[in-house]
Amino acid sequence: MSRRVDCDIAVVGGGPVGVVAALALRDAGFKVVLVERGAAPKPFDASRYDIRVYAIAPASARLLDQLGIWPEIAATRISPYARMQVWQRAAERGLSFDAADSGAGALGWIVEQGLILSAAWNQLGALPRHVGVEALALQLPDEDDRQGRASLQLSDGTELQARLIVAADGADSPLRERAGIAVTSWRYAQQAIVAQLLMSSAQAATAYQRFLPTGPLAFLPQADGRHSIVWSADSEAATALLALDDTSFARALAEASQYALGEVIEAGPRLAFPLRLLHAEDYHRPGLVLVGDAAHAIHPLAGQGANLGFADVAQLASTLSAAREAGRDWASSRTLASYTRARKAANLEMLALTDALYRGFGNSLPGLRQLLGIGLEAVNKVAPVKALLATQAQRGAG
Ligand SMILES: Cc1cc2nc3c(=O)[nH]c(=O)nc-3n(C[C@H](O)[C@H](O)[C@H](O)COP(=O)(O)OP(=O)(O)OC[C@H]3O[C@@H](n4cnc5c(N)ncnc54)[C@H](O)[C@@H]3O)c2cc1C
Repeated sequence: MSRRVDCDIAVVGGGPVGVVAALALRDAGFKVVLVERGAAPKPFDASRYDIRVYAIAPASARLLDQLGIWPEIAATRISPYARMQVWQRAAERGLSFDAADSGAGALGWIVEQGLILSAAWNQLGALPRHVGVEALALQLPDEDDRQGRASLQLSDGTELQARLIVAADGADSPLRERAGIAVTSWRYAQQAIVAQLLMSSAQAATAYQRFLPTGPLAFLPQADGRHSIVWSADSEAATALLALDDTSFARALAEASQYALGEVIEAGPRLAFPLRLLHAEDYHRPGLVLVGDAAHAIHPLAGQGANLGFADVAQLASTLSAAREAGRDWASSRTLASYTRARKAANLEMLALTDALYRGFGNSLPGLRQLLGIGLEAVNKVAPVKALLATQAQRGAG
């Protein structure tokens, strides 16, 4: 027999964006229920390093701090980076960003995925949740039903009734599909290889990125002096790199980075992720709103995917709160449209930038590649452009 549960907002998806959304909306005074089909994250094990890391922008760190998540992350393990070196042909002729140029202490922080997740879940406290439970059938209210409720059937037999469902169910978002929201999407002909390495002569607190003709290679500094790499390589090159033994992979990597961080002393196991661009044509329907990868997925070359999702959350919480405080219907299509307008512009800007960088440095457009190569070297000499780019990196999600 089905059990009915009522709430203001049901958040579907307990990934980084969904949990942060549940916390932000609860702290804004809404009655929230969280649904996650997987298991809750295991307590973070600091004796080992998580192979997946995120570059967290200052705006995201501020949000995580307001929600009480950041103090646990900072007390456990973070790695600030104050410099970023980006180049194409020769490291000494590339771009370098310095936090000091924009008057900040850090450009961002490298944080392990498992730590973000466990610290965020630890803040849930008594927030009602259905874990190991899938959101199944979705029913949304009619556009003109002003006090209508959305209904969600869960795999544990619960019927969840909410004024608003927040779909934070990832890039394949089943809820987005059930709501009939179309997407613009294409697969990049690249895979991202991630691994952890010890390099012989990297500078402290510095992130590196080289744009190779076959895709960008990033080195993100870890707290123990190692680096996490994200090497996005054309599918054929990625397959070949994944097949190499550790010694040959280390050699290929040192050559690809032009020894800018010296030799590879130690290389850990490799994992690969297929890459795509995805953007939802709309971010809302009556009673439903999209956040995070459910609304947009981007190439990881700028390390911005989760940061954009956190910015969605901050915007959604403030838009809903402002509507409620002004005595308007906080779940109305008008309120959701105002959230959509604010986030779509910022998300599309980052999608376009990362896509242009992918294409500009890829094999397919040698003319543009050359132009951007010159551009990078030129831009390094132009302080205002550099400052603008650094501010963009600072703003992260904007
Ligand atoms: C190689 C690589 C490197 C990256 N580096 C960075 C970086 O440095 N910085 C950065 O900001 N971003 C980075 N990203 C992007 C980042 O990983 C994503 O943007 C982020 O994980 C999206 O989080 P999310 O919570 O929106 O979605 P997800 O993490 O996909 O979570 C979705 C959740 O929804 C649950 N779910 C799905 N369907 C249902 C259902 N029907 N019922 C219940 N639960 C459901 C899933 O189980 C899952 O837990 C990187 C990505 C890649 C591939």
